[in-house]
Amino acid sequence: MNDKLTIALTKGRILKETLPLLTRAGIEAVEDIHSSRKLVFETNRPEVQLVVLRGTDVPTYVRFGAADMGVVGKDILMEQGAEGLYEPLDLGIARCRLMTAARVGWRSDGARIRVATKFVNIARAYFAQQGVHADLIKLYGALELAPIMNLADQIVDIVDTGNTLRANGMEPLQEIATVSSRLVVNKAAMRSRYTAITQIIADLTAAVQEGGNAAP
Ligand code: AMP
Repeated sequence: MNDKLTIALTKGRILKETLPLLTRAGIEAVEDIHSSRKLVFETNRPEVQLVVLRGTDVPTYVRFGAADMGVVGKDILMEQGAEGLYEPLDLGIARCRLMTAARVGWRSDGARIRVATKFVNIARAYFAQQGVHADLIKLYGALELAPIMNLADQIVDIVDTGNTLRANGMEPLQEIATVSSRLVVNKAAMRSRYTAITQIIADLTAAVQEGGNAAP
């Protein structure tokens, strides 16, 4: 155990956009995160360390206080719920849309539809609100394969350029939500480390505005 202030980052494309923001906020890893296999990184600020996780694990680390703060996609917060977390800042990075999609030309025959997704909670709420009877199938990846293999009629997935859908003979249908990465903070840490955390939030807010990432 140490008493460093720990920020949990989401690896992958969110990490690529997070590191320049952190740099502008005055926090920089002392070694190259992208080329390292390490999971914990010291920074130029001795009291701050970074950990690099799968996005789905970031809220868990922050909720339990194993990390004080985190960076995670809004899609994951919507799916898991934000209990135990403050969400003080939209970082405006890794913008994308959560959408329904189906094979090009697919039309519902009005009966129940089968929907494959990683986001079963979001999909359940969305189709209920639309009055559509949807049977949900939880998958962990390669969602575009599900309609091709007749596992599902539709998918609910993240769409950025739409290239992945197009490459698999699919088209986006409805937008469920717009998504960007958010800063989350453990509620107890917000009280016990108030000065340090509010300073980082202020520095990141300035970095977001300076970088033109602020939400429109
Ligand atoms: P695209 O082909 O550009 O529409 O990208 C779609 C795929 O990239 C999806 O299957 C997502 O898994 C992934 N993706 C794109 N943008 C993001 C993002 N901001 N956060 C997480 N995953 C993303």
